[in-house]
Amino acid sequence: MVDLHGGEVPENRAALEALPGVGRKTANVVLNTAFGRLKDNEGKYFLAVDTHIQRLANRTGYAKGKTVEQTEQAIIKNTPNKTEFMFNLHHWFILHGRYTCTARTPKCGSCIIEDLCDYKNKTE
Ligand code: SF4
Repeated sequence: MVDLHGGEVPENRAALEALPGVGRKTANVVLNTAFGRLKDNEGKYFLAVDTHIQRLANRTGYAKGKTVEQTEQAIIKNTPNKTEFMFNLHHWFILHGRYTCTARTPKCGSCIIEDLCDYKNKTE
């Protein structure tokens, strides 16, 4: 594995995904967070979508997608001012999904985006 890229962490998706155990989500995290890259040379944004982000995007109606990749593309499409928001969007969504919009019982009563959220089964 160390020999694959001369012992360096590569700065592009294909090379990262060639490493064992590295999929699209991890490659996006490395490119966005470790390398500080917003998008690739073709203008495609790096956004890592995990289960928290998948749930939050679909529940709220921010972006719909049956698969992680569909949701990733829908979030990118629906996010305004990408230069300002795309860099930290991953962290904002994960933290909100992990601590407020939790899988079993979302804390809608203390959610700061309750008025913006489409979820039909809101909790107290
Ligand atoms: S209102 Fe409830 S379902 Fe909607 S984002 Fe907040 S916690 Fe999640």
